[in-house]
Amino acid sequence: MTQLVQVAVENEMDLALAYKKSIKAAELLGLSISTQTSFATAVSEVCREVIDKTHEGSVSIEIHGKKEPFQIVAIITYKETPKVGSLEAGLKYARKLVPQFSSSVLNGKGTIILQMGIPRASLVNSEKILAVKNYFENAGPNTPYEEVRQRNLQLFLTNEKSELALWQSEYLNEQKNEFLSVASHELRTPLTILKAFTQLALRSECSPVTVAYLKKVDAQATKMQMLIQQLMDISKLENREADYNKEQTDFNSFLNEIIELIPQLVSSHELMIDLDESVIVSIDKLRIEQVIHNIIGNAAKYSPNNRQIRLSSKSNSNKEVIVSIQDYGIGMSPTELHKIFDKFYRVEQVSRKYNGLGMGLYISSKIIADHGGKIWVESVEGSGCTFSFSIPLIIIPVKKERITV
Ligand code: ADP
Repeated sequence: MTQLVQVAVENEMDLALAYKKSIKAAELLGLSISTQTSFATAVSEVCREVIDKTHEGSVSIEIHGKKEPFQIVAIITYKETPKVGSLEAGLKYARKLVPQFSSSVLNGKGTIILQMGIPRASLVNSEKILAVKNYFENAGPNTPYEEVRQRNLQLFLTNEKSELALWQSEYLNEQKNEFLSVASHELRTPLTILKAFTQLALRSECSPVTVAYLKKVDAQATKMQMLIQQLMDISKLENREADYNKEQTDFNSFLNEIIELIPQLVSSHELMIDLDESVIVSIDKLRIEQVIHNIIGNAAKYSPNNRQIRLSSKSNSNKEVIVSIQDYGIGMSPTELHKIFDKFYRVEQVSRKYNGLGMGLYISSKIIADHGGKIWVESVEGSGCTFSFSIPLIIIPVKKERITV
């Protein structure tokens, strides 16, 4: 296919342009005068109907075929609107002039195609087609109106392309979310059964070796459950289906409760706690616990054993409390800092050495945003990271408490 020329179709003046360009194309290709007129008249008939009904379209004059017999083709596209239903009726005359006629509507975009065979006598070949194409490219606008129209057409085409790209990406995103949701639900059931039978087997009489194997199966099944839970979280958070059970909470009491369990999570690291004055916040405790566990789990994963991990809280004059978790591990380069909260993002060198799917920080950032807070990271490569998140306060600080574990 070679496009010779394209014209936007929006008003009566465009109609004249569409006619002029069609007849010129047919003339340059060497068609007879009557064929030129039939083709150009049919094109302008269709364009008139488009202008009457939609005010938004374009016509592209093209040559189809790689060798003889070539076809001259006019493709008229327009935006479908409720009024367009009767467009067909106005096209009878065009259909008579150019019997190779077809029309279709897809995703709100109408397309009408007029096609005419070019007789061998016209001696059309690839050089001639290129010459006609060059003619239109070099002809430039004949009038200021034509110049404006050409610019408008470029804008129209760019707009159409970006609308299509947007539609495609939205569609793919929906498909992906649906897949995540269905796949994670489907995976969860067999895994629950697998875990239940492992637990049962562990309670039966079996040799120490079998117990050791079963415990390994159980631990791996738990890991898989957590990954599946993360997949389900992503699809819920993206579909805005996550329901938060927020309650007014004394922040230090909450932190102390979860801190008790953290040593089990990071048994090979030394945990230091430094909490500021207690404050009241409105949080979904399970979700904030999930964020803290994820960051502390990463701190342990990405730093050598026996290094310290520090958890601290501090409220500030912006009426928010900041929780920071510092580690002395591998850290990351400044270029990675902004990307690690993206979905499925993992630092390349890290992904070869450490397991993970790059979901935890993405989920954490969504949870914190849904609590009206922010999450960020500071790091010196090779020396460690400090992850912090903020949560808005509800009431002014009530009591002071400082614990070091
Ligand atoms: P995962 O750890 O499963 O890859 P996350 O979303 O929790 O997923 O983290 C995303 C990426 O951020 C990790 O792959 C890692 O490259 C980087 N990262 C997170 N926490 C740390 C940390 N404490 N130190 C160094 N890099 C980290």
